[in-house]
Amino acid sequence: MVIVRDIAFHSLCEHHLLPFVGRAHVAYIPQGRIVGLSKIPRIVDMYARRLQVQERMTRQIADFLASVLAPHGVAVVIEGMHFCAVMRGVKKHEASMTTSSMLGTFRDNPAARSEFHVLLGRSGNGELIG
Ligand SMILES: [Zn+2]
Repeated sequence: MVIVRDIAFHSLCEHHLLPFVGRAHVAYIPQGRIVGLSKIPRIVDMYARRLQVQERMTRQIADFLASVLAPHGVAVVIEGMHFCAVMRGVKKHEASMTTSSMLGTFRDNPAARSEFHVLLGRSGNGELIG
């Protein structure tokens, strides 16, 4: 399993035209083709640098890696803090959102998914939005 954690990004919420910022965590299980580790943050950046919705961005990164690498599985988790929610007055921790997209092995095999969550340093028992 190849995993790149804590990729900082900033993007712009397409509903409110306000920033959301956070970290992305990306993992994949190669099936031959691999990508340089420095490329993964650039892929995240490529999808962050446009008007976005966090759920869609999560899915787009996963789909892109799946189509380019044809791996056994791809997992993308994004933790974002949304200024539009902060400015509505919600507390900081309530303005943060975690989204995930699991493809292939990560979707089908609970063991692979839990290994990923262990590597991310969290429990993975339902606290992430599928
Ligand atoms: Zn917003």
